Amino acid sequence: MSTPNANRQVRKSASIPAPPAALAKVIRAASDPNGSLQDLGRVCAQDAGLTVELLRIANSPRYGFADQIRNVPQAVVALGYRTVRAHAVTYAIRAAMASISVPGFDANLFWEDCLRRAAGAQILAELVDYPDPFEAFALGLCQDLGTVLLGLRLPHLATSIQALRTKPGQARIEAERVLTGRSHIEEFVGSPMAEMLPPDLQQALGQVHNLDTTGSDRVSSLTRLAIGADTLADVVQAWPKDACVAAAEELLNSLKIKETLRDVLDLISARMCDLGQDLRMEIGEQLSLEEVVAEAQAAVLQMSAEQEQKASRLESLLRKQEEATRKLEAHNKKLLDLASKDPLTGLDNRRVFNRSLETELDRISRYDQGFSLLIVDVDYFKRVNDTHGHPAGDAVLKELATRMQRAMRDADLVARLGGEEFGAILPCTTPTGARVAAERLRAAIEIVSFDIGTEHIDVTVSIGGVSVDKHSVIQGADEVVALADNALYEAKNNGRNQVRWSKPPVKT
Ligand code: GH3
Ligand code: MG
Ligand code: MG
Repeated sequence: MSTPNANRQVRKSASIPAPPAALAKVIRAASDPNGSLQDLGRVCAQDAGLTVELLRIANSPRYGFADQIRNVPQAVVALGYRTVRAHAVTYAIRAAMASISVPGFDANLFWEDCLRRAAGAQILAELVDYPDPFEAFALGLCQDLGTVLLGLRLPHLATSIQALRTKPGQARIEAERVLTGRSHIEEFVGSPMAEMLPPDLQQALGQVHNLDTTGSDRVSSLTRLAIGADTLADVVQAWPKDACVAAAEELLNSLKIKETLRDVLDLISARMCDLGQDLRMEIGEQLSLEEVVAEAQAAVLQMSAEQEQKASRLESLLRKQEEATRKLEAHNKKLLDLASKDPLTGLDNRRVFNRSLETELDRISRYDQGFSLLIVDVDYFKRVNDTHGHPAGDAVLKELATRMQRAMRDADLVARLGGEEFGAILPCTTPTGARVAAERLRAAIEIVSFDIGTEHIDVTVSIGGVSVDKHSVIQGADEVVALADNALYEAKNNGRNQVRWSKPPVKT
């Protein structure tokens, strides 16, 4: 970005800088509705660049003062409070933004958009008799600053971010969120830049996205003015024109403003031109409503190939971004699955099982709730592989996982611990309940043979279980697993296809 003050050191930085303290002071003093002319003069005089700027403006032929104006107090009196405030705040915000350089971002166009909102908010404030139209000016001026900050954060998207200025209202916000993750307002409100504004203005900007700003307090009124300024700016810079014009007309109606949209837009361009001249900012020719609409009609009839291309490039960029977000989400889910799921059966893996076991142990002491643990091992599974082939073995394991899940309650956790060994954690379950569940599971596997392709495979499982509660003396998860393993070993030794239970040692 460039500023009128070449003396100020231009710092190019990739992070969002905090505005210099002196400029923040100027902005606060200038946008304070209770401030005085003297206070403002004093603060302005502390900044050499601003002093030079105010003297230049006061001595410019536009104002035609006979005597030369030599100091800030004289300039403040000569120009008047309102003009000085407008210049001071615009100067300070531009100077504060001077440290930001975003290639691909058109600075002139950007400041034109800022001034359009500043002038729009101020004129709306005057038309609705808001007590301090200048506050609205400062607010409007800051409304678009977040677009540069977005460009600073995502330099490769800077041009596209600025191009979103041609989308109206909510469509722009949504497109910004898709493209960058945040709207320009959200980016600004969360930045150190926002802190240069008085709290009321920060708050008003913060609720610009809140569609229900019907409150009668000052901040809500300011917010409505900011939204109104956006709606009016859309008529000039956004598409489709007919919708923008309709929205702006509805706005004027809802604010009970008697002036026509055409008159209001003319007032805004006149105010912008005055400011632009004073500040030596390059402001493009501002069109009247008729010209805007005529231009729109011509453009609609014969939208140039370039514009169409630009729009479709933008759309395709947005689509790509959406696609990338979807892919990232899917990728993240995959990573999570890889870390937590067994790929063959889709059951939770040993990591998740161990974590849940720790949680359950923790709950015993915290909430006085016991749990049960089962370890399930397929009997003679090697034979299944040997007889029917490894793929059939895999299919049996999958079907087994399904049956185990069906036999357990929703709150129970079923995991594949490795090979043909499974684990189940049954929260809040007593030994009696857990043994019934284990027996049901064992039977469900034994009774119904596994139909894999054309083959019927009979499978049985051995189950070792243990129940732990607040009376148990347990050192940790490993010990609980070891107890269940002992029971499983017993089941295997006793002829398999059965449930055996271990008892943990109890407190005496
Ligand atoms: P036991 O009743 O004593 O448990 O006998 P077993 O044959 O089930 O036990 P053993 O530990 O001797 O063999 C386990 C077999 O499980 C050997 C191994 O090839 C097979 N296995 C382990 N993981 C998989 C798998 O993912 N797919 C298939 N198809 N087989 C597996
Ligand atoms: Mg086995
Ligand atoms: Mg085994």
